[in-house]
Amino acid sequence: FVYEDSMALHVLKFGGTSVGSVAAIRATTEIVRVARAEAELVLVVSAMSGVTDTLLRGAYTAASGDGTTFGQLATELEARHTASVIELVPDERERETVTARIRGYLKEFRTLCHGIHVLGELTPRALDMISSLGERLNAPQVAAALRAAGVPASAVDAAEVIVTNDRFGDATPDLALTKIRADQRLRPLLERKLVPVVTGFLGATPAGVTTTLGRGGSDYSAAIIGAALEADEVVFYKEVDGVMTGDPQLVPDARVLPLLSYDEISELAYFGAKVLHPKAIQPLVDRGIAVRFKNTFNPSYPGSVIVPKATPVPGTIKAVTAIRGLSLVTVAGRGMLGVPGIAARTFGAVAQVNASVLMISQASSEQSICFALPTAITPAVVAALRDELGSELERRDIDGVGVDDNTVILTVVGAGLRGTPGVAGRIFTVLGEAGINIHAIALGSSECSISLVVDAADADNAVRAAHQLTVLAA
Ligand code: ASP
Ligand code: MG
Repeated sequence: FVYEDSMALHVLKFGGTSVGSVAAIRATTEIVRVARAEAELVLVVSAMSGVTDTLLRGAYTAASGDGTTFGQLATELEARHTASVIELVPDERERETVTARIRGYLKEFRTLCHGIHVLGELTPRALDMISSLGERLNAPQVAAALRAAGVPASAVDAAEVIVTNDRFGDATPDLALTKIRADQRLRPLLERKLVPVVTGFLGATPAGVTTTLGRGGSDYSAAIIGAALEADEVVFYKEVDGVMTGDPQLVPDARVLPLLSYDEISELAYFGAKVLHPKAIQPLVDRGIAVRFKNTFNPSYPGSVIVPKATPVPGTIKAVTAIRGLSLVTVAGRGMLGVPGIAARTFGAVAQVNASVLMISQASSEQSICFALPTAITPAVVAALRDELGSELERRDIDGVGVDDNTVILTVVGAGLRGTPGVAGRIFTVLGEAGINIHAIALGSSECSISLVVDAADADNAVRAAHQLTVLAA
């Protein structure tokens, strides 16, 4: 005798491309239909591909005084969503209901953009209300498509499930509160054998104000829901076969990695491989929840599996990635030598402007600290640094705060890097042979990555050169 509730619970996350067209939604519903035989399912869906960008464009154009573009965009979005509903939902009453919801959300979009246009002001809070609409437009149609395919499903607005703080645009979830809400809102659906289709990307403050988890945040949503429900597995469905050794557009011989560790995937996510939202891994690691990546359009392919610990093959480099759009800031001066507190004050200034540093390196001579951060925030950081270190600059203890824009971090990932001599040497050799100049180096704090700062112009060649060193670990 098998108890019903011994069935495993899987959270399946479908990204924008996986739910971005009629054909894609059909592929998704087929995956869900099959997977339902093996586990209880909760779906987390993104907006249809490109929709979040379109919504944001509406908001930004409205804020900049353009009173017509958002209306055109609303018309386009309505056409796209209603056209797919017509294809996916044969039942007329169902179709009417879903279409009415789509119209409702787009009316909200117009109203919000109109308000922004009139006021000439766009707050982060309004921006979240607008950008969250993409997922809200999509979840009801995916749920209806599932029902049409014979899978009982129910759309759920994540504002009812994911509780966050009010840091709009980059909200932090409250896992304890979210767990309570998930039990209240999602468990009863599962008990009724329904597949909840939850909107990715968004949440709400305890008071119910819509927030978002940052661009690409639907991955994070899936992880949060997986953690809250203590799921057995979270599967990220994308449009590629799995996590790859490199960007296939840059390195034609890039391969899928069948197995990675939590540490390895974190480094990859963090360092710009479009693998996973950087924050999405932590809630899963904390609970030892299995993670899988699969291709919506090639579902029989096993994909990549992420396990708590991979047995490192010494010296093996698994993947290479580049994070672009960075600047290298250098604080240098002879007067820094042996003076405690310069680093603390430097990074204090960085923190003041809420900038997040991607890589830090300090020469042992203690005469310079350099760090990489997104170019967009660099001017604010430099201003904060000049302010904080004003007296040292005046006394010439610090020569200056230098900025090198057009910088890229090349990251080489592999648990086999840990404690293996010679790997760094091999990396430098191939980069040297390719004529690439390295500005700074850091060993990833998890010790399963090495990061190198190179010029943006060298980035593609650097990725290709370093990729030669990847070895497919068993
Ligand atoms: N739709 C959101 C974005 O484009 C979230 C996501 O798809 O992960 O950023
Ligand atoms: Mg995404």
